[in-house]
Amino acid sequence: MLGWMRRKWKSGVSLKVPLFLLLVFIGFVPMCFLGKVTDQSLRQTQIDYRVMEVQNQCLIISNKMSRTGYMSEETRDSAVDVELNTIADIFNGRIVVVNKDFKVIKDTFQLAEGRTHVAEEVIRCFQGESGSRLERDKHYFALAVPVFDNTEEKRIEGVLVATASTENLTGVAERVSEKAAFFQMMTWWVLVLAAAILVMLLVRPFVRLQKVLNQVAEGNLDQVIAENTYKETGQISMALQNTITKLKTVNQSRDEFVSNVSHELKTPITSIRVLADSLMGMEEVPVELYREFMTDISDEIDRESKIIDDLLSLVKMDKAVAELNIVQLDINGLVQQILKRLRPIARRRNVELIYESIREVTADVDEVKISLAINNLVENAVKYNVEDGWVRVTLDADHKFFYIKVADSGIGIPEEFQEKIFERFYRVDKARSRETGGTGLGLAITRKVILMHHGAVRVLSKEGEGSVFTVRIPLNYIS
Ligand code: ADP
Repeated sequence: MLGWMRRKWKSGVSLKVPLFLLLVFIGFVPMCFLGKVTDQSLRQTQIDYRVMEVQNQCLIISNKMSRTGYMSEETRDSAVDVELNTIADIFNGRIVVVNKDFKVIKDTFQLAEGRTHVAEEVIRCFQGESGSRLERDKHYFALAVPVFDNTEEKRIEGVLVATASTENLTGVAERVSEKAAFFQMMTWWVLVLAAAILVMLLVRPFVRLQKVLNQVAEGNLDQVIAENTYKETGQISMALQNTITKLKTVNQSRDEFVSNVSHELKTPITSIRVLADSLMGMEEVPVELYREFMTDISDEIDRESKIIDDLLSLVKMDKAVAELNIVQLDINGLVQQILKRLRPIARRRNVELIYESIREVTADVDEVKISLAINNLVENAVKYNVEDGWVRVTLDADHKFFYIKVADSGIGIPEEFQEKIFERFYRVDKARSRETGGTGLGLAITRKVILMHHGAVRVLSKEGEGSVFTVRIPLNYIS
């Protein structure tokens, strides 16, 4: 049983259960309390009323006793005796009259006449305190009323003690509370039913939300989630809608990426096929032509493998924040090394490579990845340059960041494409990029690396005048 309950709690209990219990509890507690209080006060009122009634009767008769001189044997009126018996019968009790010597001169039960009766209420009454005493457990009450003499001084001559049962009274109260209990039971069932209906209504928005989410889980991402019945469901809906929108964008860009990859990978293969087919279609091909075609085929294979290499580095970076191999590095040395590697290409295009280091910089970076990023920027600056152009690389730093600026005198980038060039496979001029051996992935890799280092990259460019790429990277890497 316990195990089952524990499993149930772990798998999550329905919101309906605590809500139902809470509602029932809120209704049940005051109902019980009210029942108990009503029952008790009903009993008490009944008893109080009976005590008052008996007391009134006793006062009337005690007055009569005073007037007729009942306390002295000579003047005792037997009509009063009859009256005492009648009163005792009416309230189903007993009346005892005690004289100054605590002797019982009248007992409606005729059991104690002549005996001494020294009860607490009798003594008190002789002392001038008349009152009543309720014996709840023994189900009776007793009250004492003084009997005065017939003089002006009003001396207490005797005491009238009335005892009466409360049982028949509590019987009435019990009957009433039985009825009340039945009514309570009915109310209780109505309460349970009302709580169940209320719970159903209260959780309905959540059920609706769940239904929509089930459809989303089945792959229907076009569902509109707008369950605004409660503020909370509204907020959940909004958060879910945002998540789904993001999911859709990711899905879309993944589809786009896959189609771009296929297209990019197909292009060199198509060229290879055309080259090979035309070679095969020719008869007696001279060796030079063979060599030329084979060189072209080899170039296309190089291109294909470069695309695959770039794709692999991008994919690796996508999942690998933890795979950054951070070391403290002399950035001047790193930039100089990159420029040294690129100088032959620049020389081929007669592009002047200028390096300007404003200060010595050491920073926490992943050497391989950051040099790939800078390399791509400088290589682009050379590739998309004009004959006899220049590329200026500047390194600077402040107390927090280091900055690398790659400026060129090249063809520039039209403003509308300046943000797009960082997207995978995006190229402003496809033919030129192909010619220069570009894959369209270089800047995507660069941006990814810089973001991994918590840095930023931005471009300023004017078509026909040149471009400036500025990179900002924190000196200290904080993961
Ligand atoms: P690619 O392999 O084609 O060079 P990149 O991602 O490195 O791919 O660059 C994307 C595109 O951005 C390039 O095709 C080119 O059109 C443009 N581009 C990048 N750098 C420069 C630059 N310095 N000057 C002019 N255009 C540039």
